[in-house]
Amino acid sequence: MGVTHATSGAALWIATTGVLPYLDTGIHPLPASAVLAGSIITAGAALLPDLDHHSATIAHSVPLVGRTIAAIANNVGGGHRQGFHAPLMLVGVWFLASWMSRWQWDIGEFTVAAGAGLTALALCSFGVKARRYVSSWAKAWAVGLAYAALVLAMSPQGPSWLPLAVTMGYAVHLVGDILTTGGLPVLWPITIRPPRWVRRTPVLSAVWRPGGHVAVPLLGDAGSRREKVLGVLMSTYVSFGVVAETCRMFGL
Ligand SMILES: [Zn+2]
Repeated sequence: MGVTHATSGAALWIATTGVLPYLDTGIHPLPASAVLAGSIITAGAALLPDLDHHSATIAHSVPLVGRTIAAIANNVGGGHRQGFHAPLMLVGVWFLASWMSRWQWDIGEFTVAAGAGLTALALCSFGVKARRYVSSWAKAWAVGLAYAALVLAMSPQGPSWLPLAVTMGYAVHLVGDILTTGGLPVLWPITIRPPRWVRRTPVLSAVWRPGGHVAVPLLGDAGSRREKVLGVLMSTYVSFGVVAETCRMFGL
């Protein structure tokens, strides 16, 4: 479900950038504002793999255009939970996000980090809508616009952590999906279907799916009660993280 994916994206970003430094891992701590701003990017990016599905949240983001892009993604990726859900895709996402981060626009005397701004606009709108903070897509885009303006005001060149946040969001979606019964095409574009004896062996057939996907189905089917419980736990964690980082931002 979109909402669980978005929440998992925000939770992962807060956990790695907000909490890890305190565990003395040697990772350079990000300022609290970047922990907060980045969690919105990872929440939105965690919805991107499902662009290959016509009824995904983001396929409705822009009338007609969203569904057209979803149809193209479905075709290019070879269907739902195919190419767009492959670990290999993370390499492409990293390069695309890095390229977007560097894409600048010259308007008169000003240089605008257009790529970073557009990425922030789209991903914030996706995340805000998926987490049901707003009721309509028009409101989601308005929030996204305000967020993008804030991000560019904070870092006019575009934030350095943007490619990392986008890639982490995409990756956590894949982790979420592999925990469901459908699994993932882990070796895509190579598909290896299980032999008949595997398909007949109870636990093995749940891990190595007949279509060649691999699953660690701890959450059961997508949308299961277990997924909802995990969603509530992660959502609580994100709320605590946001409060803690906001306090840190104001030196409390
Ligand atoms: Zn998915």
